Amino acid sequence: MEYPAAPDEVGTSDMAIRRIVTTENPVLRRKAHKVSRFDPSLERLIADMWDTMRDAPGVGLAAPQVDVPLRVLVAEHEEERVALVNPEIVKRSTEELLGTEGCLSIPGYVGDNIRRAAAVTVKARDPRGKEIRVHADGWFARILQHEIDHLDGILFTDRLDRPEDLREVKPEEEEAAAEGRPTPEERARPARRAPRDIPPDVESPQAHAS
Ligand code: ZN
Repeated sequence: MEYPAAPDEVGTSDMAIRRIVTTENPVLRRKAHKVSRFDPSLERLIADMWDTMRDAPGVGLAAPQVDVPLRVLVAEHEEERVALVNPEIVKRSTEELLGTEGCLSIPGYVGDNIRRAAAVTVKARDPRGKEIRVHADGWFARILQHEIDHLDGILFTDRLDRPEDLREVKPEEEEAAAEGRPTPEERARPARRAPRDIPPDVESPQAHAS
């Protein structure tokens, strides 16, 4: 499978970290617009999103999180690395997994037992406008679903079945859970699917973002 490449080297001179907005900013609640022009400003945005995501650090970032209301996301998990423009989930598994998610736009909190399809197929354009399809499962599928939700103004807090599943976290734990990464606690748990209390798919526990 082909993925659009992220810059292999993040040059210090050319790096641009954008400010990540939090829930006070209404941009996070709006439906983002489809991209119609694949031009240098889009390339710039995507390059800045990679820099911003890795600096945070996180494993995924959607353009509304940097105050740009466009349907663009970047995500990275182990060998998988994608920049997707106008992504759409065209297929999702009936199997669902519960997992813990954090969000760079909701600092200080994570949500437990968030239900996501175990696998998804996403149709999108790459940064040059070419149509691509990405098949994802496990954590990568979770990250993509979280980021695509951002493009529709949906936050993980909207996906909580029970309010008590939202909890405050210490900075260390938050960093681990940022944007969908498994928390250290979950990494240690022997998981595999079970409907209610099994954490996320732990097949790929070493999400690595920076
Ligand atoms: Zn998020």
